[in-house]
Amino acid sequence: QPFFKFMERKAALMGKDKLAWYDVDAPVSVGDFKARTFTYDEAVDFINDNFAKFGPKLASFSQDIIEKGWVEAEDRTGKRPGGYCTSLPESKESRIFMTFTGSASDMSTLAHEIGHAFHSYTMWDLPRMNTRYAMNVAETASTFAETLVASATVEAANSNEEKISLLNTKLENATAMFMNIHARFLFEQSFYSERQKGLVTADRLSELMVTAQKEAFNDNLSEYHPHFWASKLHFFIDGISFYNFPYTFGFLFSLSIFAEYKKNPDGFEDKYIALLRDTAVMSTEDLVQKHLGKDITVESFWEQGIAIMAEDANAFLELTEAYL
Ligand SMILES: [Zn+2]
Repeated sequence: QPFFKFMERKAALMGKDKLAWYDVDAPVSVGDFKARTFTYDEAVDFINDNFAKFGPKLASFSQDIIEKGWVEAEDRTGKRPGGYCTSLPESKESRIFMTFTGSASDMSTLAHEIGHAFHSYTMWDLPRMNTRYAMNVAETASTFAETLVASATVEAANSNEEKISLLNTKLENATAMFMNIHARFLFEQSFYSERQKGLVTADRLSELMVTAQKEAFNDNLSEYHPHFWASKLHFFIDGISFYNFPYTFGFLFSLSIFAEYKKNPDGFEDKYIALLRDTAVMSTEDLVQKHLGKDITVESFWEQGIAIMAEDANAFLELTEAYL
């Protein structure tokens, strides 16, 4: 499993046997590495250049919304980190609200949010009822745009140190999707089945949480987070149970579409747009069959997405060899 090997290597670089729960998302900096920063304009240019390599429609949309000032990205006191995109169907516009601090990961976040706006844009001429897509495909366009840019930043890295740091960021995302989110799913499953039998105490919730985390991380951590059930917002959203697997599904779905793009890049953008436009009117199975001619019920469709991340993990292992 390349992802467990990645975690093992990351622990070794930090001088530890195993990572603790709180180390999983720690940055990796080796040698005399200093993180590269981007001005907002540089980030916008980088994003637009890489969108243009994918397709002219995504690139011109992105350029257009930046010029129109639909993005509010100022880094100022009191503004929290993160990003958010909302669409305004009446005026057929979108707005992105985020904090851009100049890091490569903020650049990926900006690309992610533009991806959301693009998804809405492809649907603006459809009847409103046909634009309300489900959670499992809601992150398709955003993750796709983010993957385009995050992969390009790794390729554009000036040194191995920088490449290692950027690969770590991408792989953190993969471990979150494959392990952290999986732990949340296992926890909710055991919580709901116990709740049917009666009250589940706080102590018991913590026990269930640690059991779920151990299983999802295959016992690869030195410390776990028993109170994750209390700190994570997603467990408290009533009305939506199991608000976890749509993330992993969406991530893998988008990666697998990305893999299809890499295999047949010519004319892919139009197929991609047609697919996005249909995300609210058909099942995911039909969507992919219609637009990409692929069957998502076979494992190989998903494995090609995982393979993209596994390549990153192997590159990370290779590059960090010298720093052990
Ligand atoms: Zn998103």
